[in-house]
Amino acid sequence: LGSSLRGTLDRLQGKTRLDEEDVEEVVREIQRSLIQADVEIDLVMELSDEIERRALEEEPPGGTTARDFVLRIVYEEMVDLVGDSTELPLESQTILLAGLQGSGKTTTAAKMAWWFSKKGLRPAIIQTDTFRPGAYDQAEEMASRAEVSFYGDPDNDDPVEIAREGLAATEEADVHIVDTAGRHALEEGLIDEIETIDDTVDPDRRLLVMDAAIGQGAKDQAQRFEEAIGVDGVVITKLDGTAKGGGALTAVNETDSSIAFLGTGETVQDVERFEPNGFISRLLGMGDLKQLAERVERAMETGDEEEDWDPEDIMSGQFTLKDMRHQMNAMNKMGPLDQVLDMIPGLGGGLKDQLPDDAMDVTQDRMRSFEVVMDSMTDKELENPRSVGANQVRRVARGSGQPEERVQELLEQHRMMERTLKQFQGMGDADMQRMMKR
Ligand code: GDP
Ligand code: MG
Repeated sequence: LGSSLRGTLDRLQGKTRLDEEDVEEVVREIQRSLIQADVEIDLVMELSDEIERRALEEEPPGGTTARDFVLRIVYEEMVDLVGDSTELPLESQTILLAGLQGSGKTTTAAKMAWWFSKKGLRPAIIQTDTFRPGAYDQAEEMASRAEVSFYGDPDNDDPVEIAREGLAATEEADVHIVDTAGRHALEEGLIDEIETIDDTVDPDRRLLVMDAAIGQGAKDQAQRFEEAIGVDGVVITKLDGTAKGGGALTAVNETDSSIAFLGTGETVQDVERFEPNGFISRLLGMGDLKQLAERVERAMETGDEEEDWDPEDIMSGQFTLKDMRHQMNAMNKMGPLDQVLDMIPGLGGGLKDQLPDDAMDVTQDRMRSFEVVMDSMTDKELENPRSVGANQVRRVARGSGQPEERVQELLEQHRMMERTLKQFQGMGDADMQRMMKR
């Protein structure tokens, strides 16, 4: 189906204007792809109405084809719908996992523990499932594969007591991941039990774990857990199968939350932080949506001075705000930094795992506001951001119509990128260039 969407879009390739019929055809294909991916009908309708409205009302920017224009609208509306990933500060916290039996909670607990440990934290898994035979052994084994602390008690059949004792017994850990039982249906017993565990452990985050194949059942499930404990984020598991996880969008919408992690296999390493682009492209069965959206964006940019920028300048030590602007554009073409690092042969996971999670993760919205801020800076300030003092921050904020915090955020982002780049300066030149120029 993705390919028929692609086919429809390709037919628009030569056109510069969209007529109503074109828009209707694209919208129909998108609806078909999304429904096929288990996205709830109401959501699909809402989304496609908005896409249709914008495609007919907005003027395509000069220099873009009708196809790229409509794709950009699709992409933006989809990003709006799926949202950013659930915020997960790299600090001490307690996370409660909820979900039906078989949804992947125990596996996810181990995956998340592994993920946090790679970020330099000390996680512990507390296993409170006293219902499923073998739950203790399974959780213990997965924890040992993730090489993280584990607490469970096969001789105790009171999950609330286990949760309480588990927190005390794993005091030396900083991230506590509390795994719970899930039964076949959402019967009262399960909901009562998780409410009591929730009261006892008082988690900072409550994540709902869902099988990608959940489909239309997602709504009821999400509502029940939202009522019982409140859902701060959703984990979609088994995305390595054929299901595309569109049901999770219902859950996100229903609980007013976001997606935290994606599970993509049975081992503890098969976990990814949620990232909208990949997920959206997958839902629509298209691989290059973000890139296309950005091509249109670039076509809309004015006063482009990209041409004489040499990535090697960054390696010579100095890193200015001008460099940062180019850098952000380059990064944006390639995707998030951790994926970029994966493309560099021989780098392995070592360096990548030491990086703060959001070291260079500048979202499109932030980037746009950064651009506006930079437009209000003088050349001297762009070249020497460290010299920008409080008075200048105030002036730039006024000039750009952005809050002062945004200006400060930009300066902070610059400092962070500068620091991160220092870590790369030992890398081979060829690798670096490949990374910058892509
Ligand atoms: P729980 O009952 O919610 O704790 O679910 P489990 O963690 O025990 O997972 C149920 C089954 O799904 C197990 O066989 C897991 O190996 C499998 N599973 C969990 N997550 C994934 C995933 O991301 N991909 C695949 N292929 N299997 C998974
Ligand atoms: Mg389990």
